[in-house]
Amino acid sequence: MPDWLAHTMIGWITGKILKIEVGLVVVGSIIPDLVKVNHIALFLGTDLQSFFSPFHTPAGSLLVGGILALFFLDSKKVFLAFVIGIATHFLMDYLFIGATRGIQFLYPFSWGYWRFNEIMVDYRFTVLVCLAALGLYLYYFYSGLKKKGRNRRSS
Ligand SMILES: [Zn+2]
Repeated sequence: MPDWLAHTMIGWITGKILKIEVGLVVVGSIIPDLVKVNHIALFLGTDLQSFFSPFHTPAGSLLVGGILALFFLDSKKVFLAFVIGIATHFLMDYLFIGATRGIQFLYPFSWGYWRFNEIMVDYRFTVLVCLAALGLYLYYFYSGLKKKGRNRRSS
């Protein structure tokens, strides 16, 4: 299970490559981890795990994403960006070894956990993802500069 930095960077890379609103994809990529709000509840002395755990399922995350998207004027476009972010989150959680038992892809129809969990990740994965994001950022930055330079010369 990658950390939040890796999840958000993968959301950013995906949004940038697909040319979708990057910020919304990043928010979507951490919606499933609303389950971690339970850490605050645990700190306050109560365990709400059974309440929050459905958020870390595709059905629960899509429900939250759908509700959040309703606060935007172009809710369909926002929801699509959230869905892509949520998809990147579950893909990463599915692929990598983590603290969870897997993903409950078929919740609420099945309580079964699905996992590939063959790839071990640690801080090096996060560093690699951040370097990939930096590389992509520099690519877009310099290709934008080239376009501006061409436009100045032609005008
Ligand atoms: Zn997760």
